[in-house]
Amino acid sequence: MSNLDREAVPSRCGGRGFVVAEPVRELLSPRQVKLGESTEVRRLLPNLGRRMVGRRCFVDHYGPDDIADEPGMQVPPHPHMGLQTVSWLHEGEVLHRDSTGSLQTIRPRELGLMTSGRAISHSEESPRAHARFLHGAQLWVALPDTDRHTAPHFEHHAELPRITAPGLTATLILGSLDGAASPGTTYTPITGADLTLARGADVRLPLEPDFEYAVLSMSGEAHVDGVPVLPGSMLYLGCGRTELPLRAESEASLMLLGGEPFEEELVMWWNFVGRTQGDIEQARKDWMTGSRFGEVKGYDGPALPAPELPPVALKPRGRVR
Ligand code: MN
Repeated sequence: MSNLDREAVPSRCGGRGFVVAEPVRELLSPRQVKLGESTEVRRLLPNLGRRMVGRRCFVDHYGPDDIADEPGMQVPPHPHMGLQTVSWLHEGEVLHRDSTGSLQTIRPRELGLMTSGRAISHSEESPRAHARFLHGAQLWVALPDTDRHTAPHFEHHAELPRITAPGLTATLILGSLDGAASPGTTYTPITGADLTLARGADVRLPLEPDFEYAVLSMSGEAHVDGVPVLPGSMLYLGCGRTELPLRAESEASLMLLGGEPFEEELVMWWNFVGRTQGDIEQARKDWMTGSRFGEVKGYDGPALPAPELPPVALKPRGRVR
């Protein structure tokens, strides 16, 4: 998945100044964004009121969409820099191709983890023969300065550890939770988990007080720390929590997103995460001139051109302590 906005506006994020140090309950509404011809997504991050949670700088929720008679997701080759993308499905499948030669079908509750490092390009499409419904999320994790120039690579993990408690099944996507750890490569302390709550569930999930958290609702109606969160919405939880109360009257599923707050200031534009305007300008130029980002083989169609970069200089914002 990609940011296909034709009028991409630069976003400055990161920095301790935006992190809420104590537990809060801040409900974030999604913004509807059209992704190509046939897919519409709900964008939770960046959000007007909040740019990042932990090291995640981009969260889209899509579906469930009935694509029985439609092509489904069709995202042409496009570049990434300075981040990891996490593809997570509840229904349907996505065919991933990238410039390192990966060709992988990602299925429900399998981890598709792409580390762009300094440069990668990829495409994502619903296979020609696909399931009727498509439902999932895409999340980006900003890489720390020490690792953002690392070599690009893609990982697919079909088997992920699970932890269970009465009324709860948690599948580890990234990092660790309650003693279980995902095999996905991470660069900073982080947690990402898929939570399925059974009807009548009433559980408390152990959390790390130093982490910043949010919960994205995928389906059903769950109460997160007493707040009803509907599908496609996200509840920002701040930091300083040792546990999280979860309740569901009927079956519901959530994604737990947590991690160390991001202290570096960064600049995000289109599908790039950098540190300066120069980083972004260079990346755009390299993509448009066919250098650095490699080539995606086998996608039936042209690559995506970068939008125009606004002429206004990007100034770093926010504080670093
Ligand atoms: Mn992408």
